[in-house]
Amino acid sequence: MSAAPSDAPSRLADIRHAIARAEADALRPPGSVTLVAVSKTFGPEAIEPVLAAGQRVFGENRVQEAQGKWPGLRESHPDVELHLIGPLQSNKAKEAVALFDAIHTVDRPSIAQALAKEIARQRRAPLLFVQVNTGEEAQKAGVAPQEADAFIAACRDEHGLDIRGLMCIPPADQSPGPHFALLAKIAARNGLALLSMGMSGDFETAIELGATHVRVGSAIFGTR
Ligand SMILES: *Cc1c(COP(=O)(O)O)cnc(C)c1O
Repeated sequence: MSAAPSDAPSRLADIRHAIARAEADALRPPGSVTLVAVSKTFGPEAIEPVLAAGQRVFGENRVQEAQGKWPGLRESHPDVELHLIGPLQSNKAKEAVALFDAIHTVDRPSIAQALAKEIARQRRAPLLFVQVNTGEEAQKAGVAPQEADAFIAACRDEHGLDIRGLMCIPPADQSPGPHFALLAKIAARNGLALLSMGMSGDFETAIELGATHVRVGSAIFGTR
């Protein structure tokens, strides 16, 4: 199944409706969930119809790819909000802080330190999320659940970072609910208000369990 980019606005409308319904079902205020439209691998010609449909918050998983396409798109849409949802290397912290309004993947001391330095230097303050590897998968980024409290404290106390939320990507072969619930629990005990969880296949479950940011790619842009 490969959908034409021009189908994206109608799929976007469907997702918006589904988000509104999930908010209502969970007795959460309308608009309490931010839709991050994940545009990774798609070029400006696929993104433009989604911008024209009014979407302003986008997610990318690579700094370099985002640097290639977003400065141009931002010329016509300066109010775009860009979220980094993929792994960050310390040597890309400078570019990441310059380009992104939110970073969902803070997960080790070297990144925390590099971000702190650039945030001070550039006087920009992207919204920061700590990624938690709720499934404790060896190949996946994120801090282990049992190390999350200490890492969040170190980000705050040692690096002066204003961590605002947590992010997770549940294992593909498991029911996501328990992972979302675990993330919400860790956030609550650390006083964090934001939860980046839920993708195309499970954003409704994530909203039920408290997601404030859902990261939806293929359900809007089509298969990658
Ligand atoms: C690609 C990606 C998404 C979007 O996934 P879809 O299944 O296409 O909605 C969400 N989060 C992260 C971290 C991703 O890399």
